[in-house]
Amino acid sequence: MSTCEQDNQRNPLLDELAMADKLSKIDQVIVVLSGKGGVGKSTVAVNLALSLALRGHKTGLMDVDIHGPSVPKLLHLMNRWPEMKGEEIVPITYESDLLKVMSMGFLLQGTEQAVIWRGPLKYSMIKDFISRVQWGDLDYLVVDCPPGTGDETLSVAQFLKEKAKAVIVTTPQQVATIDVEKCITFCKQLELPVAGVIENMSGFVCPHCGQSTEIFSKGGGELLADRYGIPFLGSIPLDPAIAQSGDEEKPYIYFYSKSATAKVFEDIIERIIFFAKDNSLGIKKESENKTPTATQPGDKDTKENISTLNKEASMKFAIPTHQGKLCAHFGHCEAFALIDTDATGKVINETYVTPPPHEPGLLPPWLSQQGVNCIIAGGMGSRAQQLFAQQGVNVITGAQGEDPKEIVEQYLKGVLQTGANTCDH
Ligand code: ADP
Repeated sequence: MSTCEQDNQRNPLLDELAMADKLSKIDQVIVVLSGKGGVGKSTVAVNLALSLALRGHKTGLMDVDIHGPSVPKLLHLMNRWPEMKGEEIVPITYESDLLKVMSMGFLLQGTEQAVIWRGPLKYSMIKDFISRVQWGDLDYLVVDCPPGTGDETLSVAQFLKEKAKAVIVTTPQQVATIDVEKCITFCKQLELPVAGVIENMSGFVCPHCGQSTEIFSKGGGELLADRYGIPFLGSIPLDPAIAQSGDEEKPYIYFYSKSATAKVFEDIIERIIFFAKDNSLGIKKESENKTPTATQPGDKDTKENISTLNKEASMKFAIPTHQGKLCAHFGHCEAFALIDTDATGKVINETYVTPPPHEPGLLPPWLSQQGVNCIIAGGMGSRAQQLFAQQGVNVITGAQGEDPKEIVEQYLKGVLQTGANTCDH
């Protein structure tokens, strides 16, 4: 393994080549981060990795928490030692070959003393975890980072950012803290795209009646995501069965796959898979989320505003559709028609995109990330309108007509017929 002594003997060029070779075989990296410890980051990382593996994806799980690695315990893999093959480390596998796992916990077993790691040694260890572990071909590598934005997380971001997306885990109590915001700005500074925020331990699921009770105020994760223009992936309840499965070293998704909370987990994982593939993800600065004044065709100054818009810039419109026609159900539509117009107001492109699985508050950041700056809908709830306003996206409701392209053209000419807001959710 990596020691300063060995590092001195190694050829840096060969190291670089080994790193490039390993990375070329990994398709996507999901880095799980949190501002503070104890928010369920490792629980999310382990269950995410297992769920991906159970869906048939070749998956690896790398635990780079040097000071408190919890992955071996969560997977009941304590007391396992990875084999060395020449210069390389063979990862431990969970359930035959279902999941490949590497954790500092495997190498520090029996070490009761605190290990002192300086920054360069951590950097070197993480490099080894990527370049000297036999990961093979992977669809996903999930990385469990230590809490905060220290040396380990920095090294992971530097080595893997070209393939990586971050998932930030927080709790209702932590959501408004400086630690979470630091995590988000850390990703921004390192240009590490954020696949989204998960609010964990959100509401309590009674083990007797299964009813969920809000202990702390809920919804902060969603607001945080809106503020920074990143997707909100969902809320996982505080479920004693998750804590118990952790204590019993039985990963929750694997052993309790039929439970209601596992279903919640799976929905969140669907969204992570969706956003992990989205190459347009970025983070907006809070100051960039300006609130526009909505331009409605019925307004006095509408035509003037529209012609100003036309002159100012090209636009991207989104129209919720069903079978290619305007659909009243914005939040549950089948596809969005994305229509680009040039600075003269001419339609130059029309494509259809499938929205992510429905979750309140998810569409505004998602559409904003597609570059959409105006939505024309039959109807939309006031909350969604407010969220779009925060994203700087203009919303027109009550639109009538069928063909998305014609609707945009009519809107730009200022002759679009509008009526009442047809759907309020
Ligand atoms: P972190 O990696 O952020 O330090 P862990 O994943 O180790 O946090 O979780 C801390 C503790 O909280 C563990 O005992 C875990 O089983 C428990 N836990 C995590 N998420 C939940 C949840 N949604 N409901 C109940 N207990 C949870």
